[in-house]
Amino acid sequence: MTIYLDNAATTKMRKTAIAAMLPYLDTIYGNPSSLHSAGQDAAEALLQARQRIAGRIGASPEEIIFTSGGSEADNQALISAARIGHKQGKRHIISTAFEHHAVLHTLEKLAKEGFEITLLDVHENGIVLPQQAADAIREDTCLVSVMYANNEIGTIQPIEEIGAICRERKVLFHTDAVQAAGHLPIDVKEQNIDMLSLSAHKFHGPKGIGVLYVKKGIPITAVIEGGAQERGRRAGTENISAIMGMAAALDEACTHMDDCAGRVRILRDKLIAGLTQIPHAILNGDAGRRLPGNVNFCFEGIEGESLLLLLDDRGICASSGSACTSGSLEPSHVLLAIGRAHDIAHGSLRLTLSEENTEEEIGYTIQAVKEVVAYLRSISPIWRDLVDGKKDFMIK
Ligand SMILES: *Cc1c(COP(=O)(O)O)cnc(C)c1O
Repeated sequence: MTIYLDNAATTKMRKTAIAAMLPYLDTIYGNPSSLHSAGQDAAEALLQARQRIAGRIGASPEEIIFTSGGSEADNQALISAARIGHKQGKRHIISTAFEHHAVLHTLEKLAKEGFEITLLDVHENGIVLPQQAADAIREDTCLVSVMYANNEIGTIQPIEEIGAICRERKVLFHTDAVQAAGHLPIDVKEQNIDMLSLSAHKFHGPKGIGVLYVKKGIPITAVIEGGAQERGRRAGTENISAIMGMAAALDEACTHMDDCAGRVRILRDKLIAGLTQIPHAILNGDAGRRLPGNVNFCFEGIEGESLLLLLDDRGICASSGSACTSGSLEPSHVLLAIGRAHDIAHGSLRLTLSEENTEEEIGYTIQAVKEVVAYLRSISPIWRDLVDGKKDFMIK
């Protein structure tokens, strides 16, 4: 038995997405740039997939650039905005302290090139306020990049309001919508978005494929140079089968979005209620303004890694934070950003649900986490000190 509760890391592909891919791995294998009929069959499919994906986020087909995933889309968005800013003598970028590393590491690189970076505080509830963006924008600001929903604690940001402020102040606005796409509504026009990143494997599509949406008229920089694919904005023969899988997965996710979110939210709240019963435990991120499938807790006096391994023994796939930080001893930058102390941040557990999870699985998981936390505390010297009053509890 496996209970998969790591859907923020990646998701299981939908059968419809797999079915949509197969013909393009088998019979329709032409290169869309070829002029013969085999190539043109592929080009026709590509065109239709582009239209469908654009339609799902309120964009035009020419505004869609296919990338190798969310990381590449984030890199390209930031690098492009920096180039545009540089030409205008604007070298200030605003983002938040708890972005994905695809954004934060690109910003670090830009900082080395002389850009000044302001990272907005995300408060204890994990939500940035539009006013903070308004206050931080300067004459020389070329970009504001704020994620739609956080990948570790699931909190949803007021991107529409931030986008409106950026429009008014004539500053480019990018949002990393990788965790939101397929789970929350997206309309790039209504939400005042200039650039948006999404990735198929976070909504039951294939890995290694994503989209950078770029509003018409923004001169985007290619980060992969070569052929003229994607209107010269991203070279390389298109990953047609993955693109077809992504289009099918996004169609299905958007068609059933409200229904799925409603069901998953019930499971999420049941899980949160169950884990809240554990003493000296705290939910990370706002309880209401969070992704339908996200649960993230800190438990005092334990190590998240040990918790993960023992849950894995019981058939539960969980995470201690983002997949990229697991395996390193650094605590999650997201938990530090919401003000958790290092020791507390080390005892974190992220459980991310999908509509395939059941009530029984949630009940089993609550019981398993309770038992494993109790066991780990029973062998923890830190816990002994807390119980003996030699140290103060940080989580009440
Ligand atoms: C997964 C993720 C990414 C990276 O997407 P890939 O397609 O895996 O490169 C970027 N941002 C967020 C918020 C993510 O959750």
